Amino acid sequence: MKTSHLLLALATSLCVFSANQAQENAANIIPSYGPVANQIIESAKKENDSFIKLQELCDDIGHRLSGSPSLDQAIAWAQKSMKDDGQENVRAEAVTIRKWVRGDESCELIEPRPMKINMLGLGWSIGTPAEGITAEVISVKSKSELDALPDEAIKGKIVLFDYPMARYSETDGAGYGDAVQYRSNGASWAAQRGGVAALVRSVTAYSLDSPHTGAMRYDAEVKKIPAAAISVESAMMISRLQKRGKKCVVKLVMNAKDMGEAPSANVIAEIVGSEKPEEVVLIGGHIDSWDVGQGAQDDGAGCVAAMEALNILRKLNLKPKRTIRVVLWTNEENGLAGARSYAARHQNDDHVAGIESDSGGFKPQGLTIDAQDEEKSQIALDQLTEILALLKPIGATRAKPGYSGADVGQLKPLGAMCMGLTVDGRLYFNTHHTNADTVDKVNPKELTECAITLAVAAYVIADMPSRLGEN
Ligand SMILES: [Zn+2]
Repeated sequence: MKTSHLLLALATSLCVFSANQAQENAANIIPSYGPVANQIIESAKKENDSFIKLQELCDDIGHRLSGSPSLDQAIAWAQKSMKDDGQENVRAEAVTIRKWVRGDESCELIEPRPMKINMLGLGWSIGTPAEGITAEVISVKSKSELDALPDEAIKGKIVLFDYPMARYSETDGAGYGDAVQYRSNGASWAAQRGGVAALVRSVTAYSLDSPHTGAMRYDAEVKKIPAAAISVESAMMISRLQKRGKKCVVKLVMNAKDMGEAPSANVIAEIVGSEKPEEVVLIGGHIDSWDVGQGAQDDGAGCVAAMEALNILRKLNLKPKRTIRVVLWTNEENGLAGARSYAARHQNDDHVAGIESDSGGFKPQGLTIDAQDEEKSQIALDQLTEILALLKPIGATRAKPGYSGADVGQLKPLGAMCMGLTVDGRLYFNTHHTNADTVDKVNPKELTECAITLAVAAYVIADMPSRLGEN
């Protein structure tokens, strides 16, 4: 037996012992926190401001790309809103972000017939020359199909990646992770083979001719070429035309620009703990969005659910032993500078746990947990199972291991128990990063239940005698 195997066996037996002990300890949680959980659930159902907050953020301010005046307004609004709620230590913490602007853009089919193609440039794409790029399109279904083509089939052409995203599945959170690689890397894959621009079929399994934007990145060794998402309908039509031997020519015009560094900020508010104020239980979402729609599900809903969770606890005068801290990160969509800056600035804070809400404000199902220490993760999972049983009245009882979130994940190396709010995400990617991500897509009752889930989980984790992940 290798040493590593021996250690693994030892760790496994420790885990079993600890898990049993944790279950015993956790068995006392329900009776002691049942009444307070019900109080939170009932009062929030009766009255809460999460949907009003969402309208203030999305209808009054609108979408909020990093570096935009509207994101600055949203940062000011969030502080005022949480001050008005009576929260403590409300502040903005400066973050330097990199600003990208889209500018005017268009995509037209020239041959075999003229047609406007619905498109959105991808975040961080370079622009085209002023006159645009007009070239024949070569459509491929996948990276391997591109690899199989000879250079002369690609050189000087606009490469279209017509890769379909699989329908929603609970196991991998939709086929998003798979399909999004084309959005991220398509431009460099095309450029490597002599392509002059890249078009990507929008990353969604369902489409009403709406293009979906999102971030892309360039391989440092490869020439930068412009990249845009086009609607599923247009991508499929071009592929069909090509299959019937028709030559497709497209004119792509993009004025996108990297504007360099710009100031932004994370927004923070707290209920300071009564006994262990230095131990922090964090809840949050990201306050920036793409420059389309209203960023309502992504991630206005996550922000207002966290803000309102703190407000629900405040209104009930619930002050837990540990501190509950709301963090609204900036720049999640196209940089992650907010989360990196927060983790660096607060590296010496004692983060017990962090819960991120960035999957939309749909009906909540429970929480995922992801932590560096496997033994602690297992203990935390058992504790979390007991805690979430308190949410039976709204059905958000499922604790499972899994990805937490891009922002809160930055706290994983610091030892925090990182968690993600899981929701019924079947509709999420239909409007993700589109002009249709608007307030009307959010159901007020489901949003309230997200706020309740965060409030109950954060309160119990912040107040229970043992630390989450420890017996
Ligand atoms: Zn998001």
